[in-house]
Amino acid sequence: MLEDVLCSYCLRGRSVTGPMAFSPLAAICRDCARGALEKMEQATEHPRRDPDAPFSFWSHLSDDELLGRLPQVAAAGTQVEEHLQSWVGAARERGMSWARIGAALGMTRQSAWERFTPRDDR
Ligand SMILES: [Zn+2]
Repeated sequence: MLEDVLCSYCLRGRSVTGPMAFSPLAAICRDCARGALEKMEQATEHPRRDPDAPFSFWSHLSDDELLGRLPQVAAAGTQVEEHLQSWVGAARERGMSWARIGAALGMTRQSAWERFTPRDDR
């Protein structure tokens, strides 16, 4: 388990940001939630020319800043993996089969079992 929950948007820890809101796949801190609301309101008032144009989080960062973010992005990936482990555990507690869990994730029963069963339980 991670020592600190990371905001999925700014990648800062809860110990820095304060309270967060959680969804099954993400967490958001108060600053990012406010920022997101402001951007959505601005987008409504001033729609972008190409609303489908991708936004890159790294375009404004220097090389050092980009490299400095990599550990945070990796930690966020670990956090998402932990969420997935918890959800699969909940499915197993409900008695769902590995075949059904695997199918939901687009993998075989065997692959799901290998990925989500702790080595100690095999
Ligand atoms: Zn944040």
